Amino acid sequence: MRITDIEVICLRVPKAGQPSEWGEDAVIVKVHTDAGFTGIGEADSSPAVIKACIETAQSNLYCYGLRELLIGESPLEIERLWNKMYWASNYMGRRGAGIHALSAIDIALWDIAGQFYGVPVHTLLGGKYRNKIRAYGTFIPDSEPQNNREIAAALVKQGFTSIKFGGGIFGDDPEVDYQIVRNVREAVGENIEVQIDLASKWRTPGHSAQMCKRLEAFNLNWVEEPVLADDLAGYARLSRKIQPKLAGGESLTTRYEFKAFLEQAEVDIIQPDITRCGGITEMKKIYDLAQLNGTQLIPHGFSTGILLAASVHFLAASEHGTLMEYSQSSSPLFTDLVSNPLLFKEGYVPVPDAPGLGIELNQDVIEKYKV
Ligand SMILES: [Mg+2]
Repeated sequence: MRITDIEVICLRVPKAGQPSEWGEDAVIVKVHTDAGFTGIGEADSSPAVIKACIETAQSNLYCYGLRELLIGESPLEIERLWNKMYWASNYMGRRGAGIHALSAIDIALWDIAGQFYGVPVHTLLGGKYRNKIRAYGTFIPDSEPQNNREIAAALVKQGFTSIKFGGGIFGDDPEVDYQIVRNVREAVGENIEVQIDLASKWRTPGHSAQMCKRLEAFNLNWVEEPVLADDLAGYARLSRKIQPKLAGGESLTTRYEFKAFLEQAEVDIIQPDITRCGGITEMKKIYDLAQLNGTQLIPHGFSTGILLAASVHFLAASEHGTLMEYSQSSSPLFTDLVSNPLLFKEGYVPVPDAPGLGIELNQDVIEKYKV
């Protein structure tokens, strides 16, 4: 079996020139083979940049497009191909978008291998520990603090025992931040886990520490990305000071960045996104590093059903993979792109047992939003 082509498909819900919110655009990758198997992957990144990383032509020894590196290769030799791509794109890759693109291809290769061997990806990863994974619901808060009562209460009614919010205006204004947290906590009561995501908008560790102190009455489970993940010393200072657990790392790629983050930032939870950090192959290594460091790994996941499926297979096969993120995006790219999505039910997401990732794409959605 040989790889015959790598297809990159960019999707976007709002029209070109209109602003796009998280979940409203996507880039998916199909790896085609001469044996009739097609693997599916995605990168939660800038679609046009990912397309360029894959389709660009070689410039020199360390500036290859990823597609040309893989044509004619066996898709089953996943780790060797990972290293081949990493080395041969290292001037424009190595971190950031180059690794996001590599992640999408890596996920598609695991999908092909599962289909070829007739087993789910979690079997290839060593076997599943669980048939369902507890999920927390993530929403982007309304700018009017009171309106979040209804959103949060609806999540609890759906069966979520753990919720998170962030994005939008959250993090911009200390008083609004306080009022949103207060309204959400009051709406869900004492027994629901509540975590907040600042998307780095608290900017400094000092301000973050002050806000955490102010929010102590609301018993937050974790505080996510209060400042940029580059500020390793700032994270470490905060971690020693604040009452909630400290989480971060969704923007980081490769075991190298996570090694530094684990050892120096002193966080309680790392949140690699499997479509950014280097795919399933690299996620396994990052998980092992986290275990060695006594840190929990709860993947970031707020894109399409492809990311969702890849995260579920990975967590099912991870001994301590007990919690996952479940997007509350109403974007058709989350709700309809995968025609057999893994649906949240009574607090959990089921682990599929079909070969590969076990997902099928809805061609109508692809045609409608393709750019
Ligand atoms: Mg986040």
